[in-house]
Amino acid sequence: MANSAANHKFSLRLLIDEEKNRVVLAEAGKDFVDVLCSLLTLPMGTIVRLLEKHQNPQSSVVGCFHNLYKSVSDMDVDNFENEACKNMLLYPRSAKESHCRNLKLNIDDTEVTKFFLCPNFGTEGCCKVYSNLSTTRCSCGRSMTHQIQVEDGKADGVFLSCRTSFIITDDLKVSLNSMGLVLNVLNDLGYAGFDKLQEMLVDVGFEEVVTLLWYLFTSETPLTVSLLRKHCMTRKSKMLTPLVQKGGVGGEADKLLNLKVYVRKTDGSILYAECREDFVDFLFSFLAIPLEFAWEISIDNVNMGCVGNLCRSVKGLSFGQPKKANVLKCMLPSYYNCRAQLLDVAFEEMPEYECLVSNDPYRYSTSSCSKLAKKIQKNVLAGGERIAKLISVDSKSKATSDAIGLVKGETNFIVSDDLVVTPMNSSSTISLLSKLKMSISDIEEQVISIGKTEATSLLRASLITTSALTNGLSNFLKKMNPEEATPSTSKIPRTEKTL
Ligand SMILES: [Zn+2]
Repeated sequence: MANSAANHKFSLRLLIDEEKNRVVLAEAGKDFVDVLCSLLTLPMGTIVRLLEKHQNPQSSVVGCFHNLYKSVSDMDVDNFENEACKNMLLYPRSAKESHCRNLKLNIDDTEVTKFFLCPNFGTEGCCKVYSNLSTTRCSCGRSMTHQIQVEDGKADGVFLSCRTSFIITDDLKVSLNSMGLVLNVLNDLGYAGFDKLQEMLVDVGFEEVVTLLWYLFTSETPLTVSLLRKHCMTRKSKMLTPLVQKGGVGGEADKLLNLKVYVRKTDGSILYAECREDFVDFLFSFLAIPLEFAWEISIDNVNMGCVGNLCRSVKGLSFGQPKKANVLKCMLPSYYNCRAQLLDVAFEEMPEYECLVSNDPYRYSTSSCSKLAKKIQKNVLAGGERIAKLISVDSKSKATSDAIGLVKGETNFIVSDDLVVTPMNSSSTISLLSKLKMSISDIEEQVISIGKTEATSLLRASLITTSALTNGLSNFLKKMNPEEATPSTSKIPRTEKTL
């Protein structure tokens, strides 16, 4: 998709060690560092989509996220509450969307958020609401298909307020430029002077930034591998150890849903989970979480490639708003608020808008309401006009506690260890089980209660391993003794008795 902000090229000054073929550090302006900041605000689903489109579609660099994304994309639209639910997972909305639109280079090609009214807007059966989805139904029964412009208030800035230059190390620690800092970096890397180092100017555009995004997850030297094209030896991503947590911490109070899992007794690995729509909603909502919060909620203090370095640097640079950045919660647009909220996320209140409408009932139509604005000045009112306030229909459904989900209710799903999600009605349990080629007495059924602790552990495991259920949840299983394979302790071998 051609994007006007996709052609910009930045000039980066690199200090390189030709002998070792590595970038020692880079000097960049604010506009480029803003782009680095924006990578952290991308929803995980957007990252998967961009990497699959522009990098290697076969290779999975972000744990189980490629499977999760593919599950959404493969799943028939009939299994979702509506088409919009599927689309907002495949093209997740970021709360920082308006910031990113002001970047010199915006790699996110998600369409800008649109606003819709009911075509009958203003007539009796219609509520004064707007929606961001054209598929939403108005109270009068029609779809809200009338697109309306929104007047931009003051434009949101980008991410950094300070107009200065920055030093970026090969492992993506970003700091304000200073001679002392450069000397420290060189010293730490064991350089006594500049004699072995060369300066080099490189142009960095869309392609380089997407490559950098890829190596952000997989390499400890992303600048070297993405800018000097030294692809060898860093292809393999280093796996972090999954979160080890004792089962039972956090009490029972926050346990919100139950998950049935099938465990291989001999090694305690979780083969499959059987669940209802609430757990699938929860898993799919991972795709809407921005990278910085996915890291902060579940990983923190560990790097995951160089994501940690970049996150910590960006927090440190938010000097414009003193320390506020440290307490910011993960904010998602309110339409991601669905059945089970198990993670530490908050939902944005959708803003109220105003528009001009005619008092004359015969002229009271969408044609008289030309655009929405946060605030309309009273002095623009012509005779026979008044100001109407509109609220988001999405906030409205939340107010009436009529929470709907992303996927349809009354459905059972199967989730594999690497987070391939399939509705039961389109997969065969017989073939899944027979493919395992396992002795039936080696499979045990258990039920795990999922609360915040378990949910966080699962998010973490899904980011860094390809066995999310096993790595994220096996600490919460009942202790099993692999030796005691007597049929009485297991529910599955019931079939054995009848044989
Ligand atoms: Zn209507």
